[in-house]
Amino acid sequence: MSETDPLLAPIPGAESRELAGIKVDMVRAGDARVKRMIYPPGFRWSTDVKPLVGTDLCMHAHVGFLARGRIDVQYADGCMASFAAPQVVSIAPGHDAWIVGEQPAILIEVDFEGVTISRMGMPESHNHA
Ligand SMILES: [Zn+2]
Repeated sequence: MSETDPLLAPIPGAESRELAGIKVDMVRAGDARVKRMIYPPGFRWSTDVKPLVGTDLCMHAHVGFLARGRIDVQYADGCMASFAAPQVVSIAPGHDAWIVGEQPAILIEVDFEGVTISRMGMPESHNHA
C-alpha cells in the first residue's frame, strides 16, 4: 500500500476520530452518515469495544461495502457470517465481530445514527424470519 492509496488517504470534509483502535472518517449526506472504518488486525468487538459500551453484543446494524480485508461475525445463536473484500456487508444487530488475517479491514459504511435499524429496514436482531 502506497502513501497515495485512496482507500487510506484523507477524505475531504471528513470528521476523523479513533475509537478502540478503529479509525473513523465520517461525512454527512442528508440524514445519512457515510463512514470509512479502518479496523486493525487483531481487532475483536468483544475484546476492544464491549468494555466501553456495556452490552454483551454489538447492537448496531452495519450496512456497507468491505473494500479490503476480512471480517467474521457471530450472532447470539451461534450463526456465523464471513465477509471478504470486495463484498457488500449486511450485519444485523446482536453480534460479535473480528478481523481475520494480517491486514486491516476497510469498511465503507452508511448509517442513520440512532435510527439506522428502522431507516435501513434491518431486523432488530439476527433472526431466521
Ligand atoms: Zn441464526
